[in-house]
Amino acid sequence: MSSESALTIKLKLNNGLEAPAIALGTANPKESRPKVKDTVKAAVKAGYRHIDTAWIYGTEEYIGEALSELFAEGVVKREELFITTKVWPSNWNNPERSIDESLKRLGLDYVDLVLQHWPLTFKADAEGNPIVKDGNSVLDESGDYLVTWKKLIELYKKDSKKVRSIGVSNYTVEYLKRLLKETDVVPVVNQVELHPSLPQVDLVKFGNEHGIITEAYSPLGSGGAPLLKLPIVETLAKKYDVSGADILVNYHVKSGRFVAPRSTNVERVAKGFKSVPLTTDDLKALDQEGIDHPHRYINPGFAKSVGYENWGEEKPFK
Ligand code: NDP
Repeated sequence: MSSESALTIKLKLNNGLEAPAIALGTANPKESRPKVKDTVKAAVKAGYRHIDTAWIYGTEEYIGEALSELFAEGVVKREELFITTKVWPSNWNNPERSIDESLKRLGLDYVDLVLQHWPLTFKADAEGNPIVKDGNSVLDESGDYLVTWKKLIELYKKDSKKVRSIGVSNYTVEYLKRLLKETDVVPVVNQVELHPSLPQVDLVKFGNEHGIITEAYSPLGSGGAPLLKLPIVETLAKKYDVSGADILVNYHVKSGRFVAPRSTNVERVAKGFKSVPLTTDDLKALDQEGIDHPHRYINPGFAKSVGYENWGEEKPFK
């Protein structure tokens, strides 16, 4: 039985900054976005110190409201928090405008980490919103996704008080290789879909070899948390007398990775996550699940142009 909290575990970035390994995810369906204010407040009161959001999520304003109340109530100080936001591909050519908008909505004057959300370029309207045709964002064929990264580097070098670190998201090994070859700042993080059904072993290994910490998104398998029903997760939860969510989060934390679980259920959030002493064999068994039965849950149409062709088989759950 473990009673220690995993929320206090920290990781060191390649630029020397430290951040809590567990972030509160905030990409919610439209109808539950207003709940994010209460969940952020509950999360911070429960000991979360890392929040993951993005320009595109429509939740930055709710996070901003929560933070201003938490600061006013004296629950936490700005410098005790680690806030991540992201630049959507429709802002590929002007990430600074996107960051300024995020800061305004969040009511902050700096973010701890900015991620390039996808290595893609979308056509945009005058406000930077993606132009959508037949339900899909239209790719800007004249653009190069690496321009966004180069502009983030410029901004980081010019004003590391506004943007304290920069990283990427949804990069494959091939995309990371090009980035490392053509630019001179190594991303602190690569945030990708990662869980026992998609262990991304080669991508994690490549990141480790190059000082890029891999951050897991959709750690519960996204909406409805389907991964809680995986037999290996149920077995380990029983073995350690913890919840399945504790196992799915510790799978990353005990491997030295960031993880961003999402919930708008205040009671769940208030529980936080226990630290579970998973062994090397437990971690290998969790990896093996996805090596044998790979499955990806986040499958937007545009991901194909990043080379996400290996979606794996749809896996039936109990
Ligand atoms: P998650 O894998 O975190 O799963 C969220 C779902 O799990 C919700 O339905 C939630 O329901 C449920 N849930 C959470 N905790 C529990 C629990 N203890 N027991 C049962 N059910 C639970 O989903 P996401 O896809 O949102 O991924 C997490 C975060 O990762 C995002 O919010 C976002 O911050 C980031 N992300 C980044 C992406 C990128 O491109 N960079 C893409 C996708 C996500 P409830 O709310 O009712 O608790």
